[in-house]
Amino acid sequence: MAANSLFNSLNIGLTIGLTGGIGSGKSSVARLFAKHGIEIVDADSIARDVVAVGEPVLSTIADYFGDNALLEDGSLNRAFVRQLTFSDPAKKTWLNATLHPLIRERLLSSMHAASSAYCIVDVPLLTENNMKGLFTRVLVVDCSEALQLERALTRDNSDEKVIKNIIAAQAKREERKAIADDIIENTGTLAELQKQVDKLHAFYCSLLK
Ligand code: ADP
Repeated sequence: MAANSLFNSLNIGLTIGLTGGIGSGKSSVARLFAKHGIEIVDADSIARDVVAVGEPVLSTIADYFGDNALLEDGSLNRAFVRQLTFSDPAKKTWLNATLHPLIRERLLSSMHAASSAYCIVDVPLLTENNMKGLFTRVLVVDCSEALQLERALTRDNSDEKVIKNIIAAQAKREERKAIADDIIENTGTLAELQKQVDKLHAFYCSLLK
């Protein structure tokens, strides 16, 4: 079943897929929507949950990658699996094909469970993973790569090279904006960001009438 028809059959209502590159201000935007009482579904935490200790997919992964794919406590050996999938694209394709349907299923049930007027789904890799079809609208938070770098460095206290590599590995700004229904240009102050979120919140509420 196509993602959209599954979405329709579940009658989930208005769902906004929120995305943006590292340091763009995506999490800040999510927090500002939450202040309006809007529920935020976090795709990264769902992606971690599907491979939590005890999840049946872990034994499927161990069958494919070997026993070293699991650590002694039964958790996923991320470093081992990352290394194998990095050096072998077919293994990466297999892992994605195994995990993505589980992640989509849980995303849909979390959206279904949301009780606010609409819900925001925070999906850092929405563009990269082709997930636009899961949502009613896509909201992209955008700013220059120089600002992304500056903000991520301040927030993470990380190495400039590490952040630059993450930016290079993510979708390009234009690719993200090409799939956007709504765009927040996060180039001003936090007060200006709040104003843009307030305006979009009013717009999303107007779509519900
Ligand atoms: P992302 O989730 O996209 O990686 P964050 O929302 O965590 O980005 O923002 C990165 C950092 O930049 C955070 O420390 C945040 O407080 C700060 N930040 C975001 N937007 C602005 C802004 N408009 N002005 C100043 N600081 C900002």
